[in-house]
Amino acid sequence: MATIEVVRGDITRERVDAVVTAANESLLGGGGVDGAIHRAAGPRLAEAGGAIGPCPPGAAVVTPAFDLDPPVRYVIHTVGPVWEGGGYGEAEVLASCYRCCLAVADEVGARSVAFPAIATGVYGFPAERAARTAVDTLRSTPSEVERIRLVAFDEETRTLLQAALDGPAPAT
Ligand code: ADP
Repeated sequence: MATIEVVRGDITRERVDAVVTAANESLLGGGGVDGAIHRAAGPRLAEAGGAIGPCPPGAAVVTPAFDLDPPVRYVIHTVGPVWEGGGYGEAEVLASCYRCCLAVADEVGARSVAFPAIATGVYGFPAERAARTAVDTLRSTPSEVERIRLVAFDEETRTLLQAALDGPAPAT
């Protein structure tokens, strides 16, 4: 069972074996966290993504981390669901993202993995529900990963992730 830590910061500064990016289906790079990771990893990241080809929502693929500083060796690219109101299986797709990232981390032997708040930016997934889905899925998915860092870019996301990790508020 991995330890899960919530931190606030820029995921490109994480010192882990693998960083997860919230990619779009093309894997060629986008905005938000994906843009930041592509800028830090250099142009070979988009070349590697393009060579793999389109990735459907809920799946994950891995490439080298290229120019990201050691110890980061891998970028795991996952495509979140575009939020369309919640009635289109968005939560299940988001859970699949987290499961597939752990499976890919296992394939390459990554023992520490940093995740952004997948789908909560441009893709519009409500942040509180996304935080609970992230924590519940990561807790219930067996893997060889030992350390998971949930990296929030803003304070609201950090608070929601920490609350999800701490469990539901006790009944009063
Ligand atoms: P998506 O398209 O999956 O919604 P976004 O990149 O738009 O992805 O947003 C996902 C989350 O990543 C948001 O909470 C956003 O604030 C956050 N984010 C943006 N840049 C960074 C960064 N450098 N490090 C960590 N998180 C980031």
